[in-house]
Order: sequence, then structure tokens, then C-alpha cells
Amino acid sequence: MLHQNEIKPIDLKMYRSVAPAEQLDELEKLAEPLKGKQLLYVSSTASGGGVAEMLHPSVALYRGLGIEMEWQTIEPPPGFFEVTKKIHNALQGDPSGVSDQEWDLYESVNRDLAGELKSVEADATIVHDPQPAAARAFIGPRKEPWIWRCHLDLSSPHLATATRFAPFLQDYDGAVYSMEEYRLPGFEPGREAIIAPVIDPLSPKNQPMDEDEAEKIVSAHGIDPNKPLITQVSRFDPWKDPVGVIAAWERAKEDIPDLQLALVGNTVNDDPESLHILEEVRKAAAGKEDVHIVDNFPPAENDRGVKAFYVASDVVIQKSTREGFGLTVSEALWAGRPVVGGNVGGITLQIQNGESGYLVDSVESAAEAIVKLMANEATRTKMGEVGHDYVEQHFLLPRLLCDELAFLAGILDS
Ligand code: UDP
Repeated sequence: MLHQNEIKPIDLKMYRSVAPAEQLDELEKLAEPLKGKQLLYVSSTASGGGVAEMLHPSVALYRGLGIEMEWQTIEPPPGFFEVTKKIHNALQGDPSGVSDQEWDLYESVNRDLAGELKSVEADATIVHDPQPAAARAFIGPRKEPWIWRCHLDLSSPHLATATRFAPFLQDYDGAVYSMEEYRLPGFEPGREAIIAPVIDPLSPKNQPMDEDEAEKIVSAHGIDPNKPLITQVSRFDPWKDPVGVIAAWERAKEDIPDLQLALVGNTVNDDPESLHILEEVRKAAAGKEDVHIVDNFPPAENDRGVKAFYVASDVVIQKSTREGFGLTVSEALWAGRPVVGGNVGGITLQIQNGESGYLVDSVESAAEAIVKLMANEATRTKMGEVGHDYVEQHFLLPRLLCDELAFLAGILDS
């Protein structure tokens, strides 16, 4: 069931032209004592979604620093990701819960996974999110530390689900969350850290693109470059509220009649629910000729396609109602665009309200923010610059490795 991802190292010096020098110097120092150590990431999937997006370059940079980071993903039997998406939703507060039968499947797949993971040697293992988390409970005593790294918003979980899930975590030696308020009730690991996610400035998705190229790419997807454009880039997921985005666009269009909306999204193998949500979005968009659904770029076109939509947009939206972090917010700010984002979770870390975009609580306030921003190009430009600089300081890859290494050094020393 385990699949090892082969990732080439990247030299830290490649980041010299794009990330703050003091972070890179610190990273070199922090990496020194861990050189030659064998670390392991375990996560659900190697592509699609924010976790995979972040782990790929993290592994490459660890390796470039001389730390033997490996990354194993899982290829579970049918039905497993349906169950883990339910667990994910419930841990984020969905009251639907998870049935006994579903827990049985979750447990038995994790038991099998534990059987395979037992033979993988590592000085420290970091398991991401709920999908493979329960494997630790079936591995037995271990000298080397195991850390649970959760990317979800656990601030108000469905309690019955959290209560059933927490015992699977009891043997972890530490936990990492994206925000302070995400600590899981009922789970008290030895050590905890709060580490916010990051984007990779060297990804093609985050490299500069001029407006002409962006216009060419979005035109091929039916966008009229002479009309204003707002975009949300997201998995088709209920928490990303794509239908709410259409409602906000509809309301904003009353003031800006030629306003176009692009919903750029993908369906992801560890999120089978996304196909169903895509259908709902199609229904909500039916007959609305200025709404463009751009689903599933071919892999080779994805990153530059996403970048093109950021660059060609006047305003980027991320109207989530729950959001562990939301890499798309930092990506859009890094591209120099103001962002209108849901006033929830990790989005609040990234948007400086009124300075690089607006935090909104409803369809109405999202529409108001869009209209306000669309009225003033100079404000949009200024906000895009503020957002770009903020991301540079706080949300680029080298900072994540600094935080993770500092935490791991403490765990390995204790
Ligand atoms: N993404 C993409 N293509 C798409 C839609 C999304 O590459 O069609 C990427 C997006 O650019 C971001 C990631 O998927 O890097 C989504 O991460 P985020 O943290 O925003 O959300 P998640 O899906 O992890 O909840």
C-alpha cells in the first residue's frame, strides 16, 4: 500500500534570489546538526491539494540540505478515501459523523499500513493528517519519535468523531498544527508546535508571469481579457463554498455588469466528494455565461494555468467557511493580487484586512468587498504589493523548514 516518492534534491542556494536571506542563513544553521539523519513523511497522496503541494518541495529542500527525507504516500483499497473524507469533514465540524462500519474500514486499512511501516527505518516520522494517522496505534513501542502533523481546522470538531479519533493518536510523541486554536481536544502529545504552511516560490505556479502570457492562457479557457475578472482556485469542496462564490459574483455583477468569474478547480484522488461538488457547482453556474468553470487542467498545464488565472484576475477570492490554511491565498498575494477571503482559520493569518484584501463573513460582505476593490485599480495594486511582501516574510518554504527543524531538534534531543 505504501508508495515511495522519488524526489530530487534542490540546493538551498536556488532560494537566494527569492526568499529572505536571514531565513536561509538560519536554515543552514538549523540543518547542520541533523545532516545525515533519516526522516520520513507519510501522507495520503502525492499530488493534488495543499499538503502534496507543500511536501514535494519540502522533501527536495531537506535533501538539498543533506537530510535524508523520504516521503511515502498510500494506495489504499477502494472506499478508504470516502471514509477519510468523512472523518476530515467531521473533524472540521460537519455534524454528519462517521458510522461504525466506516471506522472499521479506517482501522483495518491503518492496521495493514502499520504492518508495512514497521519495516521502514527513520530517525523521526511525521505523519500528515487523519488518513494514515491511526497506523501509529498499531505499530507498538518505538524508540524513534513519531509526530502527527495536522493541516485541518480542528477548532470545533464534531465531538463524537474527535472522541473516537483521539485514542488513535495517543502513541505520538508530538503534534504540529497550523494554528493555536486547532489543538485537538482529548489528545495530549509530549510536545506541540504551531507551524503555518507555506508556498514554494520556485514552483512554476509561483514564478513570475507577464500579463500578456496570462491573458493568452485564460483566453483559451473562454475568458475575455477586456472584461474584469475575479477567480477562486480550489478543490471542489463544500468548505471552499464555490456556490457561495457564484452568489457573491451575482450580487457584485449588479454593480459591475461585465464582471466575469472563474472557478478554477481540481478533483483529487483522496477527495472523492469533489466530483459531487463539481456537479453542484455546474448546476449553480448553469445559464450564467460569465461564469467559467475550469476543472482539471492537464497536469503539465496546471501550474502555469493556475498562475495565469491569478495574474489575469483583478481580485482573487477564497471564500471558505473553514480553512486549515489555504495555500491559494498566499499564492494569489504572491502574484500581487488582493484577496477577498473567508474570515476563518488560516486565511486570517494571510490577509491583512483592509491592507492586502478583505476578510468576509457572508455572500453580501464578499460582494461588497469585490465591488469596492473593482472600483479602484490603484488600491488593488497597492494591496497586491503589501500582500506580496507579507508572504515573502512569512509564508515561503525556507521558513517552514526552519520551524520544522527547530521542533525536530527539540524532540530528538529529549
Ligand atoms: N490547485 C491546483 N489546481 C487546481 C486547483 C488547486 O494546482 O485546479 C492547487 C492550489 O494552487 C493550491 C492547492 O491546490 O496549491 C490547494 O491548497 P489549499 O491549501 O488552498 O487547499 P486544500 O486543497 O489543501 O484544502
